[in-house]
Amino acid sequence: MMKKKILIIEDNEQNMYMLTYLLESNNYQVIKAFTGVEGIRVASESFPDAILLDIQLPEMDGYTVARNLRSIRELDSAPIIAVTSYAMVGDREKVMDSGADGYIEKPIDPDTFIQQMETILVEKRNSQHD
Ligand code: MN
Repeated sequence: MMKKKILIIEDNEQNMYMLTYLLESNNYQVIKAFTGVEGIRVASESFPDAILLDIQLPEMDGYTVARNLRSIRELDSAPIIAVTSYAMVGDREKVMDSGADGYIEKPIDPDTFIQQMETILVEKRNSQHD
């Protein structure tokens, strides 16, 4: 079976390392981008199966990145999952309004992260088949 390709957009090296490790250990292929602009470029060139998106990014924040990604027609079916430490009331809505399909809170829990991600991917897939 072909490995699913996940694009990680994350500026923090430690988080990038952790997410890459978790995904590769679970048989996913990883593509990395350390800024939003780079992430949008990479996404439109390599058509990932899903995108993990940090919200707190330098220059262009994750909300803006999500809106940009959603404007790319070829990426319509690619789930965007925000991965962020923002835990304030209203942030979840702000994330979802910007075009994300789900939300995983930081700090990342290595024991549950993959399951959290796959739950969101399944929900997105099911909603597309309704
Ligand atoms: Mn960040």
